[in-house]
Amino acid sequence: MSGIKKLRTDVAIVGGGIVGASAALALRRMGASVVLLERDLCGSRSSGVNFGGVRRQGRPLSQLPLAQRAHRIWGELPELLGTDGEYVRSGHFKIARSESDMASLERYRALSSDFDLGLELISAARLRTQCPWLGARAVGGSLCLEDGQANPRLVSPAFALAAQRAGAQVFERHRVDEVAHDGALFMVRSAHPEGALEVQAPLLLNCAGAWAGAIAAQFGEAPPMSARSPVMAVTEPVPHFMQWSLGVEGGGIYCRQVARGNLVLGGGTGITLDADRARAERDAIATLSMQAVELLPGLRHAHIIRTWGGTEGYLPDREPVLGPSRTTPGLFHGFGFAGAGFQIGPAAGEVLAELARDGRSDTPIDAFAIERFDEQPVSPPLAVPSPT
Ligand SMILES: Cc1cc2nc3c(=O)[nH]c(=O)nc-3n(C[C@H](O)[C@H](O)[C@H](O)COP(=O)(O)OP(=O)(O)OC[C@H]3O[C@@H](n4cnc5c(N)ncnc54)[C@H](O)[C@@H]3O)c2cc1C
Repeated sequence: MSGIKKLRTDVAIVGGGIVGASAALALRRMGASVVLLERDLCGSRSSGVNFGGVRRQGRPLSQLPLAQRAHRIWGELPELLGTDGEYVRSGHFKIARSESDMASLERYRALSSDFDLGLELISAARLRTQCPWLGARAVGGSLCLEDGQANPRLVSPAFALAAQRAGAQVFERHRVDEVAHDGALFMVRSAHPEGALEVQAPLLLNCAGAWAGAIAAQFGEAPPMSARSPVMAVTEPVPHFMQWSLGVEGGGIYCRQVARGNLVLGGGTGITLDADRARAERDAIATLSMQAVELLPGLRHAHIIRTWGGTEGYLPDREPVLGPSRTTPGLFHGFGFAGAGFQIGPAAGEVLAELARDGRSDTPIDAFAIERFDEQPVSPPLAVPSPT
């Protein structure tokens, strides 16, 4: 093992998911020097294995300013990243399976009317004509025409590559083992087998996803985050019939069809094997298959060719932590996106870059302050959330 490599930078970032990588890119565009350390490969965790739903519809109102900001960024991917990441504004349709679901979708449309989501309620009669492929349980729904879908395996690593092209120093396979603060500078250390790395920076972004609690804990902060693993499956290609990305009101199954014809399905929770690994679980796949056929009867004979899971961090209120540390000046957190951080990730990254540069952002983030967990007892994990 060779000696310690020491670097000095304006901003150090832990974690090369979509949040950390987009923060790195935004900081480079602001002219700051950046070192990003990623334990595995950039975009290989939640950010690269998620469902690929890029939707604003259905988010809590507190997230809509961030989601709207992200919506603009998604529209500029080719210029920003040099690839569209298979992002398409295909429409996101939230299905109602009862009159009370329909009423709840109507309520959401009214409550979110300030955000210009363009939600359109679709009746059962129109659905039968327009979408004959939908199962009989759908009694209507809400369409957000400009929401869409993308390929997470392309988009998330592309943010890190773009940051690197813009001058960020990106170290993959460098796990941050230790972080310290001497009152002025952070010391971020990684014991890499080919030579340890020590990064000194006045500013540190904690973007370590489901593992960010361990970084926060080094600064005396312990948000009550739990790790869970949404389940994904993909079918063999079938003739293309569906443009929209689908979800159901109240949660449960969600699915989309990619250009090649495969249906990507999600729903339920898998097994967290250990701190690093997650797997889709047999019963969850069986339930998902039954729900898929009920929703889309044409899938009756389609084979599932692959299943997987991913490890994601959840706070009890299912809102992320996004903002300054309450113990350590210069430390900013961005984690705990509760199965819904792919769409808002690029905006969260920009907000973190603004916080690092200016100490503030025009995008409202008060709802995501870490202080909201002060003196709260650690809550037990909540029921299965719906990632999309
Ligand atoms: C199966 C699944 C489906 C989902 N579907 C959707 C969806 O359709 N739409 C949507 O909007 N969201 C979805 N999500 C949520 C979304 O993927 C996440 O919220 C988002 O990717 C979080 O990004 P991140 O950068 O915070 O975390 P991550 O992508 O997990 O990145 C964090 C990174 O930090 C690294 N790291 C951790 N500890 C260290 C350390 N000590 N040193 C160095 N690096 C470290 C990790 O290796 C990881 O790469 C889904 C999530 C899952 C798991």
